[in-house]
Amino acid sequence: MKKAEIKIAWLIGASALMASCKVSQKADVLLFNGEIYTADSSDAVVEAIAISGDAILATGTAETLRDHVGDDTELVDLNGAFAMPGLIEGHGHFLGLGNSLLTLNLADAQSWSEIVAKTADAVKTAKPGQWIEGRGWHQEKWLAEADLRYNGYPYHDALSAVSPENPVLLVHASGHALLANAQAMELARVGPESASPTGGRIVRDDAGKLTGVFEENAMEVIYRSREAERSRLPETERMAALKRMALAASGHCLSYGICSFQDAGSNLEEIRLLKNLCDSGTISTRLWVMLHDQAQQLLTAIDQLPVELNPQSNFCCHAVKAYADGALGSYGAWLLESYSDKPGFRGQNTTPVDQLQKLAQACAKRGLQFCVHGIGDRANREILDLFESELAGKRDEDLRWRIEHAQHLHPDDIARFGPLGVIASMQAIHCTSDAPFVVKRLGEQRAREGAYPWRSLLDSGARLANGTDCPVEPINPFACMYAAITRKRAPGGEAFFPEQRMRRLEALRSYTIWNAYAAREEAIKGSLEPGKLADIAILDRNLLSCSDEELAQTRVLGVYLGGKPVLPKEEQSE
Ligand SMILES: [Zn+2]
Repeated sequence: MKKAEIKIAWLIGASALMASCKVSQKADVLLFNGEIYTADSSDAVVEAIAISGDAILATGTAETLRDHVGDDTELVDLNGAFAMPGLIEGHGHFLGLGNSLLTLNLADAQSWSEIVAKTADAVKTAKPGQWIEGRGWHQEKWLAEADLRYNGYPYHDALSAVSPENPVLLVHASGHALLANAQAMELARVGPESASPTGGRIVRDDAGKLTGVFEENAMEVIYRSREAERSRLPETERMAALKRMALAASGHCLSYGICSFQDAGSNLEEIRLLKNLCDSGTISTRLWVMLHDQAQQLLTAIDQLPVELNPQSNFCCHAVKAYADGALGSYGAWLLESYSDKPGFRGQNTTPVDQLQKLAQACAKRGLQFCVHGIGDRANREILDLFESELAGKRDEDLRWRIEHAQHLHPDDIARFGPLGVIASMQAIHCTSDAPFVVKRLGEQRAREGAYPWRSLLDSGARLANGTDCPVEPINPFACMYAAITRKRAPGGEAFFPEQRMRRLEALRSYTIWNAYAAREEAIKGSLEPGKLADIAILDRNLLSCSDEELAQTRVLGVYLGGKPVLPKEEQSE
């Protein structure tokens, strides 16, 4: 039946019912003929959804919803397509994502000379002194052996020659190393004598010459110098640059069906800008933002936070982010026992516990969520101990404090999350990216018992969130769900302790209602139920019935955001 005929049939039916029924509210849009996973408490799948304004009016079958069809109702035939609640990224870095999208993409480069040539092109259009940034290079993809001259890395000389006046910063595909040119190193005051910081390496060859490569924490030296340059720009220019990043990030999110994004740390200036961009409708992705700043400034910044609790707003900020430790790869994760491959070393505590306690008290006083980065088992234990003491007597306030990553847990601590109401905000995709070095760092037993233990957490009654930490990982939610349900990086690969796998429905819930809960937003989003926001992702395959491998390849056909269709604005890159 054609749309018009369906509409006529409904209208006849509806008018016949008018006399006996109370008049139903008419929908602005009716999506029908779909397989729509609602993520409600019974995991119901419906055929149709009626939308009024920005909210869902009713769900059911085309037949049961026909009373909601009026003269002005737009009928949209989903042609059997699968749809689900608009996805929610549970932990990413919105402006960092935008920045990464605006820089040179070097992922496909097959040689060092190709990268140098791309940089030279960028120099031609850059303003004097402007930073030239790129990402995604990987020396193992390069075909020419001659490009690799020290420790598998190139020297910076060719890069410095094509860009003598513009500092250049090119980040490795892993995000754990970068290449800088001479100008960038000069601005950062790095010379052959500069010492490598703890947990990082300024790479020098055997003769002591700088290669231009900065690993792990040494990357900060170059980043700080770039940030200092940025902070010297006039405010209008700085804001314009941030706005470009936000626009790029928003379009990228929607192209993956992500309607809401939980930003894991922006400072006050960025928060004010993001709020303006959301309030003015300049960006359409809904944002939920954690305040983050240097430890000393964070306490005072909390007092100035433009706390936004308007549930229909596109912008929410009622959370604070702090760091208890660093990352496992760079030996920054704070462990209870030594690293297996670095005896006697137990990692780093990056914010002293008494400082975290002051922040926790400030958050509790203001009713804010407190989200603490914790990777190592010692960091997680310290955070749990702190939360336990600070939340005592406040259980009815429903603060939903979170541990960001909750990556490596002592078995004794796994069962503490549920009863304490602490959310384990995990990134399934980190597990499969890190898998190659986790057993090296932690040893077999610790890895088996407590590395990315989402099955054990769920079974013990813990609430989880899921996300990608983009731009550390690509934002693709389907790749992340694939990691959650297979613990594999790619089909055919080895599964990382597969007994910790998530079930299919859990993975779908992790990207919808669980993430909504983790942000105290489950009353307005995360499932397709009457009264909630009409944020809907329409996909090219049925995520309830396709194979795991097919799920990883999912493409987005369309997105409804607050009841309005927004076409994915860009091609998906992977
Ligand atoms: Zn993060």
